[in-house]
Amino acid sequence: MPTAAETPAESHVFEADVARLLHMMVHSVYSDKNVFLRELISNAADACEKLRYESIETPSLSGSDPESRIVLSLDEEHRQLCVEDNGIGMSREELVEALGTIARSGTRAFMEQLEAGKVAEGAQLIGQFGVGFYSCFMVAERVDVVSRRAGSNEAWLWSSDGKGDYSVSPVDVAQAPARGTRILLHLMEEAKKYTSRRTIEQIVKEQSGHVPVAISIVDKPGGEAQRITDGSALWTKSKNDVSQDEYRDFYRGISGQYDDPALTVHFRAEGRHEYSALAFVPGSQPFDMFDPDRKGRMKLYVKRVFITDDAELLPRYLRFVRGLVDTSDLPLNVSREMIQESPVLSSIKKGVANRVITAIEKLAESQGDTFLTLWENFGAVLKEGIYEDFERRAQLLALSRFRTTASLDGYRSLADYVRDAKDGQSAIYYLAGVSLEQLKASPQLEGFRARGVEVLLLTDSIDSFWVMNAPEFEGKTFKSITQGAADLSQFPALDDEKAPPPETADGAQTFIAFVKDRLADQVADVRASIRLTESAVCLVASDEGYDRQMEKILQSAGRLQDTAKPILEINPNHAMIKAIADLEDHSPLKGDAAQLLLDQARILDGDKPTDPRAFAERLGRLFEKAARL
Ligand code: ADP
Ligand code: MG
Repeated sequence: MPTAAETPAESHVFEADVARLLHMMVHSVYSDKNVFLRELISNAADACEKLRYESIETPSLSGSDPESRIVLSLDEEHRQLCVEDNGIGMSREELVEALGTIARSGTRAFMEQLEAGKVAEGAQLIGQFGVGFYSCFMVAERVDVVSRRAGSNEAWLWSSDGKGDYSVSPVDVAQAPARGTRILLHLMEEAKKYTSRRTIEQIVKEQSGHVPVAISIVDKPGGEAQRITDGSALWTKSKNDVSQDEYRDFYRGISGQYDDPALTVHFRAEGRHEYSALAFVPGSQPFDMFDPDRKGRMKLYVKRVFITDDAELLPRYLRFVRGLVDTSDLPLNVSREMIQESPVLSSIKKGVANRVITAIEKLAESQGDTFLTLWENFGAVLKEGIYEDFERRAQLLALSRFRTTASLDGYRSLADYVRDAKDGQSAIYYLAGVSLEQLKASPQLEGFRARGVEVLLLTDSIDSFWVMNAPEFEGKTFKSITQGAADLSQFPALDDEKAPPPETADGAQTFIAFVKDRLADQVADVRASIRLTESAVCLVASDEGYDRQMEKILQSAGRLQDTAKPILEINPNHAMIKAIADLEDHSPLKGDAAQLLLDQARILDGDKPTDPRAFAERLGRLFEKAARL
C-alpha cells in the first residue's frame, strides 16, 4: 500500500454553479470582505456542535478532548491566516461533496441576486444561502483545508486557488489535527491586514462574539493561544445582562443576515416546561420567505447542545422568525420521530408563538412605524395564520393592516374600519387583485366611493383565501365587491349628482335585454348596475361560488375546470350607453357595441378580450365610422 505521501493528488473540476459563484465572488467589489471570517467561524462552530451531538451516542468521538474550540492563527510573515476547529471534521467524500458542489437550492437565487446588480449586498447575503465557505476566496489566493473526521485514522487535504478546480490528497495524520478541520488561507497581498491581531480580534468580537464555542487567537507562529470569546450561550443570560448590541450581533450570527432585528423576544419559561427562547423578527425579508416548503429556521437546543434546525418550532406563518429554543425537558438523544410527536415540544411551540405574537401586538401599540415596517415585510406571511390557525384568528385579524379606499398610502386596521363603518353596514367590503394600481382603477369601486363606503384593497394572494375562512370581525362579515348584487342602496350617496339611482326606465331595460340576447352564451346575466358611477360596464361574479379574483387564482393553479360565467353590469346613466341604446336594434354598430362592452369590462378586470382578433376588427370598424363623420 502506498503511504499518504506517495498517493498522487486527485484533481477535480468544480461543479458549474460553484465555478460561476466563485468567479462572481472574486470579481465583485464587495463593501465588506470581513464576512469571510464570520462564515469560516460559523462553519467551525457548526462542526463542533455536530460533534457534541454525535458524541451523545458515540462518546468515543470526543475521546479525551471533549471541549470544543476554535483557534485562529496568524502568520504575518507568510501572509497566512488559519482557522482550526476540533469539531466533527470531514471524510474525503464529505470534502468533495461539501466544498466542490453547492447543496442548497437557494444558491441559484443568490446568484440571480448578485447578477441582478445587488452586488453591494452580496457579501451580506452569503451566509443565508449556504455558500459561506467560498467567501474565503475573496481574500485568499489559495486555500488549503486539512480535515480529519472524528474517529477516523485518515486525514485529507483539499486545496484550490478558486479558479476552476481543486485537488484532494491524503495527508499524514501526524500533520493533521487529531480531529476536526484546519483551514489555511494564503492571503492576497491586498488582504494582508487579516494577519493583524487587532483587526482579527475586532472582527471576531463584532461578528462572532456569541458563537457558542470559545474562540482563541495565536498571533504569531509558536505563540500562545489566548481566548478572545468565551463561548457562553447568550440565551442563558438574564435579559438585564444583555445589551442591544449583543442581541444584534447574536441575531446576525444566527440569521446570516446583516440588518438589525425589528423585534427581539427573549424569555425563560419556568412553568410546566423549562426552556429559554431567544427569537428575532428580522429587519428585512429573508430570501426564502416564499419558498414553497415554508420551512422555519428556529433552532432547537437541548441543555445547550444544538439538536436540529428542522424541528418546526413555530407555526409556518411565523417562519420569518429567527432564533432558538433551548430546553432541559427533552433527552439529549431525542430522535426525529420524537421531535415530531413530542407533547413537550408542542407545548413549547405554543408558548413561543404566543410570546412572539404578543410582542408584535405590543409593538403595534407602542411603536407604530416600526410595526408598519414589520407589517410591510411580513404581513403577507402572517396573514396565512388567519387562514390556518383557528385559535389565533381573531388575534391575527386584529393585528392585520390594510390599504383601503380611505387610506391608499397609509394603513388601516379592521378596528378602524368597523369604527368608521356606515350606520347599518353589516359587511366589511373588500376588493382583491394583483396590484394596488389595478385595484384603485377598478370600476366596481365607484359606487362605494360615491357613498363613502370603505373598501379593503387586498393584493396578496393569500388574501383571497383567508377572507373566505374568516367569517367575521366584530360581527361583520367579509364581502367581495365583485360578487353578487351590491347592497348599496341602503347607503345614501355623498352627492346625488354623482350617484343617481340606477335607471329602470324602459329604454334601459330594452337595451339590457338586447345585450343579454347578444351575449347569451358568454355571460350569466346582464343587469343595470348600482356599483358604477363613471364607468360604463363592469363584471361581477354571482352570489354563489367564488369572487372574480379567487376564480382567477384557482384557474391559474389548474384547480378549476370551468369558470362560472360572469355577470355583466351596465351603467344606464352613462352617456355612451344611452347613445348606443338609442340605435336601431338591426344596426350592425349596436351588435358590435354589445360585444365591445363585454370585452371592455374584461380588460378593466385585467383580462384579455376572448377573441382579440374579432375585438380589433370591431374596434377598427368603429374608428372608421367615427373618422368618416
Ligand atoms: P453551510 O455552512 O451553509 O452549509 P458553507 O459553504 O459555509 O455552507 O459550508 C458548506 C459545507 O462544508 C458545510 O455544510 C459543511 O458540511 C462543510 N464544512 C465547511 N466547513 C467545515 C468545518 N470547519 N468542519 C466541518 N465541515 C465543514
Ligand atoms: Mg456556513
